[in-house]
Amino acid sequence: MSRDACRHATGLLILQPTPFCNISCDYCYLPHRNDRRVMPIDTVRAAVDFVLREDLNAPDMTVVWHAGEPLVVAADWYREAFRVVDQMSPAVGRLPHAIQTNGMLITEEWCDLFLEFGVRIGVSLDGPASLHDARRKTRSGAPTHARVMRGIDMLQKRNVPFHVICVVGAASLPRAGELIDFFRLSGVTDVGFNIEEIEQSGGRSTLQRAGCERAFRGFLAEAVAAACEATPPVVIREQQELMACLEHPAFGRMSGNSQNAPFGIITVSVAGELFTFSPELAGLTHRDYDTFAIGRLPDATLDAILAGEPFRRMWTDIEAGIRQCRGSCDYFDLCLGGAPVNKLFENGFFASGETMFCRLAHKAVSDVVLADLERRLKAPVPAKELMTSDFKVI
Ligand code: SF4
Repeated sequence: MSRDACRHATGLLILQPTPFCNISCDYCYLPHRNDRRVMPIDTVRAAVDFVLREDLNAPDMTVVWHAGEPLVVAADWYREAFRVVDQMSPAVGRLPHAIQTNGMLITEEWCDLFLEFGVRIGVSLDGPASLHDARRKTRSGAPTHARVMRGIDMLQKRNVPFHVICVVGAASLPRAGELIDFFRLSGVTDVGFNIEEIEQSGGRSTLQRAGCERAFRGFLAEAVAAACEATPPVVIREQQELMACLEHPAFGRMSGNSQNAPFGIITVSVAGELFTFSPELAGLTHRDYDTFAIGRLPDATLDAILAGEPFRRMWTDIEAGIRQCRGSCDYFDLCLGGAPVNKLFENGFFASGETMFCRLAHKAVSDVVLADLERRLKAPVPAKELMTSDFKVI
């Protein structure tokens, strides 16, 4: 891998303000969520400096604050961090910020910050209380839904735009219509459905049960139909992303996705360790790759990373996995070789192909969305239903 091949590759710079999370969800993969450290502002500075100095930033690069619950860190810490980022990036213009939150701690003060800096907000909400509270609990096992809904209510009252990430497990599969109805009635119009993944050694997902793949296809078909019929329509991220992929000028000629292209995503841990490829790898360990860290700030350089064993070993194996996908999968142009973290923790190797994740999140999504498109193209289609959006995954 040459320096030139990495130029402007980074679309997401994910910074971990703290590994700590104030709640404890059943399916959480974060291994250090009791760790209360906060990222020093000098590490924020070093992270932005690294990306800009090495010319890695894509023209639309977003800074994402995630990987713990970001709102447990004070709003004033973000004011300082955002100012540092702004001061460092005059040549590339103001870098957009995004925060993925569990929604429990949203206050007027946070809304002020979001509006002041135009922060894109994603809230984790798994649907109505009966679904959400079954998996998303406080550290003492209490339900969290009511408090998240209070946070969403505040975002709406203050006109802070946000989208929702809804984790889909086996219990959600028979309830697609109810989920879309719940989101519509709650005024939520942008939803991403994240399947419950396997992202660590020995990890399990309720979607591994027999019959879940078929049920997931039914779930998605019902959700897509209900979302289009809703007034106002509910935008489903998976549908929008697939449409955007089909409309992309380079469709059919792309060789990788943000998770398997070197430096497509850069994640920086609270301690300044650098990671690339799937962001979930930050903080995990594996017998073949140790901690997955490819360098450490402030001293890391791109040349040293590219020449270093941790990066070279991962890239050799991930590239072999992409080749395997390209040679065997009819969905390659839509998926572009899958997610390394799922390949490793489902199949045992980066150098592998199909996973449960890709069967659901790529193959099922492609089949269902394309069947829906075909059906609607045979009938007169209201323009609003075919629009694509710039919905961002974080
Ligand atoms: S859908 Fe699965 S098998 Fe196909 S390219 Fe993606 S990861 Fe590979």
